[in-house]
Amino acid sequence: QAQAASKKTYIIGTDQTFKPFEIQDKDGTYNGKNPGIDIEILREIAKHENFKYELKIMSFNADVQALQSGQIDGMIAGMSVTEERKKTIDFSNSYYTDGVCLAVAEDSKITSMKDLKGKTVNVKTGTTSAIYAKSIQKKYGFKLKYYTNSNTSWADVKAGNADACFDDGPSLRYGIANGTGLRIVGKQVSNAPLAFAVKKGENQELLKMFNDGLAWLKKTGRLKKIVNKYTSKKV
Ligand code: GLN
Repeated sequence: QAQAASKKTYIIGTDQTFKPFEIQDKDGTYNGKNPGIDIEILREIAKHENFKYELKIMSFNADVQALQSGQIDGMIAGMSVTEERKKTIDFSNSYYTDGVCLAVAEDSKITSMKDLKGKTVNVKTGTTSAIYAKSIQKKYGFKLKYYTNSNTSWADVKAGNADACFDDGPSLRYGIANGTGLRIVGKQVSNAPLAFAVKKGENQELLKMFNDGLAWLKKTGRLKKIVNKYTSKKV
């Protein structure tokens, strides 16, 4: 069984760009030295556990749908573990924790959610940010604009085409440290573990290998090294 598993090339979905978890090279691949936290984790785990994989780079929402319909074997995309997702997805142990944050352009006058009345707010389709924004939309009275990737959403806010965006805090903060020109408003509104995912009941040997490899990454301090590389300085 182990042998059969190691012969298989797993198709792993990932996001198009979701810094610092996914950082695409100029040629659009993740083959470079600084491909982001998720890609480095997967690389190290696959090497340690001796399995082959191919990355499938799609929007986050496309990844989730491809996973649920069995077109990909697994996904790693800064994905938050939620009770709703657990109905259709099996998650690995967690390698990081993050949550939803509000951000605006540096020179924006918005200082709290209350200032969002009548404003346009960007979110990425299918994300926990989109779900959160939708849940408070009526209360605060803003319009939602949907994007397929975070870079475009942020650039749109910076350019003044939208007033604010919701996205993952670590991602927004990494972007800000690297010059997106945005500013975080208030506190991170949620905290959720990030994990590798497979379709519920499928690819359990892959999930097990991921968990085994992750335990090794944690034990040897390698996980910390990878995370620090992206969170303690500009890349
Ligand atoms: N952590 C968020 C989620 O799981 C966003 C993930 C992403 O944009 N790649 O919905």
